[in-house]
Amino acid sequence: MDLQIAGKTALVTGASRGIGFAIAEGLVAEGARVVIAARTQAALDSAAERLGEGGGEVFAVAADVSSAKGVLKLVATAREHVGVIDILVANAGGPPAGASSAVDDASWARASELTLMSAVRLSRAVLAEMRERGWGRIVNVTSLAVKQPVAELTLSNVMRSAVTAFARTLANEVADSGVTVNNVAPGYTATGRIEQLFSDDYARARLVASIPAKRFGEPREIAAAALYLCSQQAAYVTGQTLVVDGGMVASTY
Ligand code: NAD
Repeated sequence: MDLQIAGKTALVTGASRGIGFAIAEGLVAEGARVVIAARTQAALDSAAERLGEGGGEVFAVAADVSSAKGVLKLVATAREHVGVIDILVANAGGPPAGASSAVDDASWARASELTLMSAVRLSRAVLAEMRERGWGRIVNVTSLAVKQPVAELTLSNVMRSAVTAFARTLANEVADSGVTVNNVAPGYTATGRIEQLFSDDYARARLVASIPAKRFGEPREIAAAALYLCSQQAAYVTGQTLVVDGGMVASTY
């Protein structure tokens, strides 16, 4: 299906690898002009090279989205490369694991900057121009944790739920302007994040056994959902969370 976003501009953060990279790859394949961001220039350059192999327009901008300054500089540089941003995919690494009783104030503050405030600031930086032009797509990458808290992932459970509430609030505010705001919520997906959280084979095998689909998701499967939310066809979908988890969240709603 043609998503009708050829020629649109996109900014994808956390895109040097994993889910962000797969989303950028899908956007490039649809003919969008894409700015990818992550903290490390070398990793980004290598990602941009792979993404551009088919002749697509890809620009790599090193930025840390967990700071206000980092976001402002990133969006300004992205505009220099591609002009006004039509599509924003707000993504980054996840906060560290820890049970509720073990998380100190500094960790709460860092997780808020990384997960919640990055989404808030990125949206704010691109929103006015999207509204002026009467077209925009904002997609936050969250987690199945917004439907079903994951043991030991206190910071992720809480901050991603906050992002979800923010997205719903913003979606309502801008619903009459051609701008949609949605979330894609991955289940367990085969990326570096899984390696980071489940380092031994036994723990990973137990995790796979607990997934109804009996396998990890592939980054491109999460990307497919995000791409739909970026599409012209999804113009009437806003404020939603699309969970892509191989059946892991088993509730009716
Ligand atoms: P990943 O660790 O493989 O990739 C994260 C990307 O974000 C990398 O490009 C990294 O360089 C970049 N990044 C990290 N911190 C950043 C910062 N401060 N500023 C800019 N870029 C930054 O992660 P992933 O598996 O692709 O997951 C993407 C998101 O989805 C994460 O937030 C993760 O927690 C969440 N998620 C992942 C899974 C999973 O199973 N993989 C499940 C649920 C939710």
